[in-house]
Amino acid sequence: MKNYEMDKILKNNDIGSEMFDLIERLFPICRSITGNGVRQTLKILQEHIPLKIFEVPSGMKVFDWVVPEEWNISDAYIKNSKEEKIVDFKKSNLHVMSYSIPVNGKLSLSELKKHLFTLPDHPNWIPYRTSYYEKNWGFCVTKKQYDNLKEDQYKVVIDSKLEKGSLTYGEYFIKGEKDDEVIFSCYICHPSMCNDNLSGVSLVTFLAKFLKDKKLKYSYRFLFMPETIGAITWLSLNEKKVDRIKQGLIVTCVGDRADSTYKKSKYGNAVIDRVVQRVLQESMEPFNIVEFFPFGSDERQFSSPGINLPFGSLMRTPYHKFPQYHTSADNMDFIFSDCLKNSLIKYYKIITYLEDEKSLENNFEDIKEKSGDTKPEEIKEENSKYVNCFPKCEPNLGKRGLYRMILEKKINLGQEAIFWILSFSDGKHSIKNISEKSKISYSVIKKTVEILTAKGLIKKADF
Ligand code: ZN
Repeated sequence: MKNYEMDKILKNNDIGSEMFDLIERLFPICRSITGNGVRQTLKILQEHIPLKIFEVPSGMKVFDWVVPEEWNISDAYIKNSKEEKIVDFKKSNLHVMSYSIPVNGKLSLSELKKHLFTLPDHPNWIPYRTSYYEKNWGFCVTKKQYDNLKEDQYKVVIDSKLEKGSLTYGEYFIKGEKDDEVIFSCYICHPSMCNDNLSGVSLVTFLAKFLKDKKLKYSYRFLFMPETIGAITWLSLNEKKVDRIKQGLIVTCVGDRADSTYKKSKYGNAVIDRVVQRVLQESMEPFNIVEFFPFGSDERQFSSPGINLPFGSLMRTPYHKFPQYHTSADNMDFIFSDCLKNSLIKYYKIITYLEDEKSLENNFEDIKEKSGDTKPEEIKEENSKYVNCFPKCEPNLGKRGLYRMILEKKINLGQEAIFWILSFSDGKHSIKNISEKSKISYSVIKKTVEILTAKGLIKKADF
């Protein structure tokens, strides 16, 4: 990789606009974790890179999960008794809760309200809601639409299909001189929202496009998958490749106006962590670094104790940290072509430095051995260590009654404690250590450990 390649990107004034245009084209498509919206999205990406599209059948067991039924939707609306459409899926696909079951009926206002979601703090925005693993239906509306509803008989139609089909994902692999590989992964399951995560989809596409036909030392794999279930599916089908993967980045929220934020890998000082921080320092722009936390996006699957890879995430404003997140306000006005280009340059530089890194593998192994407690300890409850009984990716918490089926905007403490414990129950970290790392009180961690032990998700390490 030569510097003139970088110059080509820097000098290409149109690259940011091209990334922006791709997002604009993908924006109207109704995507979910399965279905035709994902296929249509991947087909468009194939115009840029020779992406391979994979279909994994519904019902297939993938680690602790099962590939869900495929969801497709053609129309949905709410009409008042005057036959006026007051909520219309065709105006915004966010109006329908993703994975809503088909509905066709008449409802009173009070019955209808049980299925409506709003954002009281932002009366003009539509929230984004999903119900992937619990059969339910719902409409997401602005607070204004909600407040305008009067006593009436409402006709409610959701013309959706939930049936055996497949989960679709895309993959593009560039073979380098070595088998050791680096992964850039983004998720393609979100409907009409830009920063989260069409910005990531566009960046990974253009990054791959630039690397195509280059002579590279390492191999690079670009993944376009539905979040969580897609990463679990991919890792389950590609378990044999895990040893070759040396590091990776989850690409998300890379198009907004804010400074860059890097979420470190679980190891904190893996090669990828050092390289990303070097790129940020050399950028001469302000940036933020956050320590790893075991929730967020797919880094938590790649970093789970049974997979154990250093995966970080280079973003601008992280998910959950911008009010527009998971709402209709995360639209084309929230992202900027110069910011997309700026993010792309940083990712490209990361690859340039990775290619230069001489002792990639050795460093990687060093870090792995250093993680966990090393000091001898007294035999005390707080020093006890646990092992995760489902160490490959995250276990399915929903089927054990441990996950709220409709994803809320805010993650509560109990949920966070579960993720911390599952992620660090590797026989090396004590519960006290997990409490310190997570900054969650020892009593909450201990209580959660008891619940997870009773559910058979973790057990005391017997050494
Ligand atoms: Zn999201």
